[in-house]
Amino acid sequence: MGKLIVFEGTDGSGKSTQFSLLTKRLEDEGLSFRRLRFPRYEHESSALIRMYLDGQFGSDPEAVNAYAASTFYAVDRYASYLQDWKQDYEAGCLFLADRYTTSNAVHQGSKMAQEERENFYGWLYELEYEKMGLPKPDLVILLDMPIELTRQLMRKRENDTNTQADIHEQDLSYLEQCRLSARTAAEFYGWQVVSGVRDGKLRSIEEIHEEVYAIVKKCLEE
Ligand code: ADP
Repeated sequence: MGKLIVFEGTDGSGKSTQFSLLTKRLEDEGLSFRRLRFPRYEHESSALIRMYLDGQFGSDPEAVNAYAASTFYAVDRYASYLQDWKQDYEAGCLFLADRYTTSNAVHQGSKMAQEERENFYGWLYELEYEKMGLPKPDLVILLDMPIELTRQLMRKRENDTNTQADIHEQDLSYLEQCRLSARTAAEFYGWQVVSGVRDGKLRSIEEIHEEVYAIVKKCLEE
């Protein structure tokens, strides 16, 4: 079997930035790997995700419960696995994924009370890894960033790319719950947490990258 390393983080935590930096560095080193990115908005298998994010089931993220919404994302991953990467995974290939089942834990887990989360996390992993048979990650890195900073970073990205936040990204209490759910999930599942701040200040992209790189290298050597 191959190896799967997953990048996770709430919106605006710097996940895409760190994912690009890491994959570029590993590529420059001549390492052979494949990238995965979820959800796959450009594929048919993400139809329900697009309807959901577009607000077609209700403009409030809570309009679709965590379990139902999680299945939309799980189905897209399942389709991608069968159509695109199962063969390579079984042949021993290394994969780096920007989001995975872990995103359901973070984003959908945000919709429930703290005491219900562990039940949900257990259900989620059982669904995707045991019942559906998707590969379980060998390493999950969670980029943890305080919400005040993620909002600043998201505004910066909106300006840089001329895009708009989706229904989730505009909702502050939702983002706060996502962060709490992410930290709870990290503890529950044993993810590696990389903090975006030091002494209350935003760390530089380079400094965060060095920490991420060291964690990934260690996993690759195991
Ligand atoms: P995400 O993928 O988590 O939503 P991005 O990686 O797209 O977040 O980052 C959002 C914006 O913040 C981008 O414009 C990025 O360049 C910037 N950014 C990310 N991390 C940092 C950081 N540590 N310091 C300063 N700017 C950052």
